[in-house]
Amino acid sequence: MTPEQLRNLVRSVPDFPVPGVLFRDITTLISHAEGLRAAVGHLVDRARASGAQAIAGMEARGFIFGAAVAIELGVGFIPVRKPGKLPVPTVGIDYQLEYGSDRLEVDPTAILPGQKVAIVDDLIATGGTALAAAELLRKVGGVVDQALFVIDLPDLGGAERLRSANVGVDALMS
Ligand code: IMP
Repeated sequence: MTPEQLRNLVRSVPDFPVPGVLFRDITTLISHAEGLRAAVGHLVDRARASGAQAIAGMEARGFIFGAAVAIELGVGFIPVRKPGKLPVPTVGIDYQLEYGSDRLEVDPTAILPGQKVAIVDDLIATGGTALAAAELLRKVGGVVDQALFVIDLPDLGGAERLRSANVGVDALMS
């Protein structure tokens, strides 16, 4: 399936999680066998072209695509986790949301110094989450120059924010 055909498998849900937001839901894409395989395949092509030596995915939907891409590419997967989930000493980063703040954590021993790590997530909106993940992975020694998404919401400027931080951005659809 082409990225254009994959667009039809993404469900748009109005007023979630709050009134006025149109949520792009990938449940319908990942439950479609051919759609899931095709989406992962397109991400793998891009990850391979970037020379990624490891894939990092953000909890939770980044785990779905990120782990699949890592397996297909034959590299390891680094989980970027929500706070308090890892049973070992972590390195973390706090970042601002529209309202309030959030935190991501990683096990620093999961990354080799200088390892080229590509970020994978389902969707980029403002780019805050991916930018925080890139900064965190760099903080622990990773070289992060590529982030891959299934969906980009270009009106929210996330891709631009990442590119300003020297992270290349690619998405299967806008
Ligand atoms: P950002 O930090 O504003 O770029 O938001 C991206 C993060 O929020 C990603 O981890 C997404 O999974 C999640 N997210 C934001 N909006 C949506 C949406 O419409 N559908 C699915 N996930 C979303």
